Amino acid sequence: MITGKNYIGNKLSAKGSVTHHTINPKLNIETPTPFFEATIDEVNEAVDLAWGVFKEYRKVSGTRRAEFLNAIADEILALDQELIDAYTTESGLPEGRAIGERGRTVFQLRSFADLVAKEDWRENTIDEAIPDRQPLPKEDLRRTLIPLGPVVVFAASNFPLAFSTAGGDTASALAAGCPVIVKAHAMHSGTAELVASAIIKAAEKTGMPNGVFSNLMGRGRTVGTALVEHPKVKAVGFTGSIAGGRALFDLASQREEPIPVFAEMGSINPVVITSKAISNRSAEIAKTYAGSITLGTGQFCTNPGLILTVEGPKTQEFVNDLAEKTVAIEAQCMLHPNIKKGFVENGASVTSQAGVEVVGTIQGELDANYAASLIATVSGADFLANPKTSQEVFGPFSLVVRCKDEAELLEVINNLEGQLTGTIIAEEEEYGNLHDLVDALENRVGRIIFNGVPTGVEVCPAMQHGGPYPASTDSRFGAVGANSIKRWVRPISYQSFPKELLPEALRK
Ligand code: NAP
Repeated sequence: MITGKNYIGNKLSAKGSVTHHTINPKLNIETPTPFFEATIDEVNEAVDLAWGVFKEYRKVSGTRRAEFLNAIADEILALDQELIDAYTTESGLPEGRAIGERGRTVFQLRSFADLVAKEDWRENTIDEAIPDRQPLPKEDLRRTLIPLGPVVVFAASNFPLAFSTAGGDTASALAAGCPVIVKAHAMHSGTAELVASAIIKAAEKTGMPNGVFSNLMGRGRTVGTALVEHPKVKAVGFTGSIAGGRALFDLASQREEPIPVFAEMGSINPVVITSKAISNRSAEIAKTYAGSITLGTGQFCTNPGLILTVEGPKTQEFVNDLAEKTVAIEAQCMLHPNIKKGFVENGASVTSQAGVEVVGTIQGELDANYAASLIATVSGADFLANPKTSQEVFGPFSLVVRCKDEAELLEVINNLEGQLTGTIIAEEEEYGNLHDLVDALENRVGRIIFNGVPTGVEVCPAMQHGGPYPASTDSRFGAVGANSIKRWVRPISYQSFPKELLPEALRK
């Protein structure tokens, strides 16, 4: 049941008087439950509790943490239709997407359970002593990874389940041995509370210490700022805008004790389509990309917002076809009015720049939060001359950049900011000529896709979901897959240690 209250450990709490409502974006009305925003006292209480239990939780065995994560997955599934209804009401996303995202969330939790049930993720390394080494003896050294401490997770607006309350950041931090405090996204507070209740039930059923998880509501910056500034918080996970991620990163680095902020932010995900590929299969590529650009109303961090090609005989036909097929897909609802506002404003900003031409958009009146998909085009020279043309337009938008030759296309890539993904669409006979392109993309992105689409992020160990700034604040790490656990741990070495004082896995 949705109460509108915060979870501070296993206790429901509503000490404040400020409330907010979530919005049903399809109907453009507020939902009935008032959500009590956490007060500074409640923030402090949640962090103090997390800090207090860290001592115990960090020592909980991998097997027991795995039980906890699997229990969270079970409890999320047990919420059944109530969760699906809250999700669809608060996000405007369809039921199929809600069920799919719930499946992904459960899969992530179970994957981290499998990971921590075995010890090998800690990269345990043993360098035995060589007492008779000359000229000096070698000491016994043993290295492992240990959790950082309480982690604050900012829920993402565009993944109310998979990158939110029990999403990848929370699952990986709990798996690592860190207590988690979630700052719920104010536009899906009800979904957040339900998932939080599942985590609390799972913690109680598996005997985890009270305080291993808290969920705080808030709109505006007060709650988030207080959490990041709190001296007992030791790391932050964030998915959202560049402005938000950067503000929190700066805040964290200005603390007396700076802490890491793993922020996954903006990306326009360049897609290079060779003119030969356009000549050979223009219609097929246009169809595939119309689907990818509009998937989830374009509200994916991996949405293909930039298409690069060298001008060829069929370029115009391709651009027209892409626009026609994109616009033919029925307009869909955006997550909340602010996202819609950002889409309209940023789309208008890019399309008003010199040389940018709108090729197609949905015409006529749409319901308040529905998005009119938009395809625009610009020359390579105009794109290079004006950084405003590469601004992210979060939603169903893509800008086709028509370069005069290969050199200009490479210059465009070299001038881009860091990106989550880059994609190459090419014909087999061209593969030998693509080395420079691959080199250029390697320097700008975290994942390169060949003859596919960037939307769709498989959860598996080889996935990299992160990239050079501003795609993320630390390109050495990612927010998806087993390796994302490494964000919440640090290495420690034990030198010449008595066996009984070593962590069990290092006692060999
Ligand atoms: P957001 O504005 O960055 O907010 C995300 C979370 O961070 C919210 O909980 C927000 O709190 C908090 N926050 C933001 N700035 C903060 C600050 N300066 N201090 C403390 N807390 C702060 O993202 P959003 O609401 O999800 O969407 C807004 C825009 O972000 C979208 O239009 C889109 O452009 C972009 N976005 C990008 C991605 C991506 O993957 N690339 C994903 C989602 C959104 P409050 O809401 O309580 O203020």
